[in-house]
Amino acid sequence: METVPDYFGSMVFNDRVMKAMLSSKVYASLKRTIDEGVALDPSVANAVAQAMKDWAISKGATHFTHWFQPLTGITAEKHDSFISPAPDGGVIMEFSGKELIQGEPDASSFPSGGLRATFEARGYTAWDPTSFAFIKGKTLCIPTAFCSYGGHALDKKTPLLRSMEALSKQAMRILRLFGNTTSKCVRSSVGPEQEYFLITKEMYDQRPDLRFCGRTLFGAKPPKGQEMDDHYFGAIKPRVAAYMADLNDELWKLGILAKTEHNEVAPAQHELAPIYTTTNIATDHNQLMMEIMQKTAEKHGLVCLIHEKPFAGVNGSGKHNNWSIATNEGQNLLSPGETPYENAQFLLFLCAVIKAVDDYQDLLRISVATAGNDHRLGANEAPPAVISMFLGDELNAVLEAIENDTPYKGAEKTQMKLGVDVLPKFNRDTTDRNRTSPFAFTGNKFEFRMLGSSNSIACANIMLNAAVAESLKIFADKLEGAADFETALHDMIKETIKEHKRIIFNGNGYDDAWIKEATEVRGLLNFRTTADCMPHLLDKKNVDMLIGHKIFTIDELRSRRDIMLENYCKTVTIEANTMVDMAKTQIAPAISAFTAELASNAEAKLALDPNLACSYETGLVKKLSSLTDRIYGSIGELQDKVIALHNAKDVVEESAMIRDEVLPKMCELRVACDEAETLTAKDYWPFPTYADILFSVR
Ligand code: ADP
Ligand code: MG
Repeated sequence: METVPDYFGSMVFNDRVMKAMLSSKVYASLKRTIDEGVALDPSVANAVAQAMKDWAISKGATHFTHWFQPLTGITAEKHDSFISPAPDGGVIMEFSGKELIQGEPDASSFPSGGLRATFEARGYTAWDPTSFAFIKGKTLCIPTAFCSYGGHALDKKTPLLRSMEALSKQAMRILRLFGNTTSKCVRSSVGPEQEYFLITKEMYDQRPDLRFCGRTLFGAKPPKGQEMDDHYFGAIKPRVAAYMADLNDELWKLGILAKTEHNEVAPAQHELAPIYTTTNIATDHNQLMMEIMQKTAEKHGLVCLIHEKPFAGVNGSGKHNNWSIATNEGQNLLSPGETPYENAQFLLFLCAVIKAVDDYQDLLRISVATAGNDHRLGANEAPPAVISMFLGDELNAVLEAIENDTPYKGAEKTQMKLGVDVLPKFNRDTTDRNRTSPFAFTGNKFEFRMLGSSNSIACANIMLNAAVAESLKIFADKLEGAADFETALHDMIKETIKEHKRIIFNGNGYDDAWIKEATEVRGLLNFRTTADCMPHLLDKKNVDMLIGHKIFTIDELRSRRDIMLENYCKTVTIEANTMVDMAKTQIAPAISAFTAELASNAEAKLALDPNLACSYETGLVKKLSSLTDRIYGSIGELQDKVIALHNAKDVVEESAMIRDEVLPKMCELRVACDEAETLTAKDYWPFPTYADILFSVR
């Protein structure tokens, strides 16, 4: 029987395949491009293309595609076959270096936020040699960046690669100050934990809201939800286990390091976590993973829901972004070291992250903002919309000691001067955990927990890398000019702690008292919705920083703000229209039919005996009639609010109207319909209930 190591990565043009199929000269040249970012030698491209094609054909591929990540948040591909006519009437299979390096998809239908005039429809894709090509179905997929002819990034990969570059550049300056002469670059790594729901296709097909919006827009609470906590880490049902096994196989063939799987808190909710890897590869893998999760579900008669909030009243789904930075030699810069010297360096990087998160709370919030994720962050379940950091008791004590010049419990010296030979060794704290913090230190990495399950992780990591690069730049600028490095270092760490400690919070992030303290006492930001935060992308401090590190141009930033807001408006508008449709054509008629039956039953009973009370029938008829009237009224009002969106002068105004007018009306309509659901005979209800859906997979 084939074992996992036999087929792991079998569909990936990885290092092992390259080594075997390329001449040593070509291999060495490509390797320099991959590892050190050296520009690719054009003659090398032809040789690589040839080998890639031969390998792909041997695996049954007939087509190739430049696989990219436009601003829709999902991936895009246009397939070209390898065939080329031969003089004898047959075909040969061809693939050139030029085709490998650059493609020209007709890009006019991808969102560009005004970056690409329609007459200039073409964009181009450019090979990212740092992420391996792979085969999906019968197609060789080449990971690429996607730009307009003017050179503007139209995708998520380009700025992500730029942010990694910026972070590396600034981190290297710090490492040199600490005497590191051997590292060549610094890379950020990510391990994203992906949550999802699994329901049966049968249930899904009966719910227009799930089909059009990925989430339920109606649904009364089921008698049993997640209150027993009996699902979390519970035994995995055979049908789910079969799905997971199949999914793992598919992912492993693509070289995706699927590692941990378990049931999550809500019924029908699960999680899959891969082993971490370099950020841009992790991003490609996460996109692929979401796609394959959905495809594999279909094969099992299931549907995988990746929406942030498919069901009200039970937990939504997020994606924990475990992030760290390490040198190319493998030193994790967020890992407390063995020696005081290493610990001084660790504390400086830690402070860089603390400063970054505090200074750019808004950008981090923006990076996870979608209509779907607002249901988690704006409510009180997942991390709140307020960003704070959890460091754990041990690190906290160290920082406090430095800030106040007081002895640290583990220190031998009475005072903590943060010189390279005075700082004590401390243990990284792996025991205390805080599950409510949006941004938690977990021993050797940070876990950014605000991402929604459907988010591309590119956005969060672009902002995280950028913000930390900025802190490091400020630190390096000061330290490089310092007369006495150790004193300057000590002072800088101390000042940073003083200035930014307001962002550190170790208590319960779900508590209302915390939100009050955070916003009123500490002055932290609380952007509850996408409409609230997104305009701040263009705040001067954010623009200056992102342009300063060459991660975005001003045009790219403007276009991104518009695209994200448009996306928010479109998503909610589709939801509103779906609600109107379901309420009008399914819910109201169902309630009315049931009411009619109640009325005629009462009539029949009274005909038999005029003294019968018929309180069930008459009581319900009254109640349901008034609910139907409310529903009917709400439908009209919601429709009017949607029509009024046309009056918005721009997308910023439209998004505010969505937030203030449309969403509250949607809530009203839902409340009335959900109440009616609890009163209507099950046979009459036009679609499966929460109980049906959430407990459908057995
Ligand atoms: P936890 O159970 O605390 O969430 P795990 O050790 O299971 O932590 O890791 C969760 C995720 O974090 C996994 O995807 C793992 O690969 C990733 N991870 C572990 N170490 C690092 C690191 N240094 N950098 C980035 N991600 C990491
Ligand atoms: Mg975790």
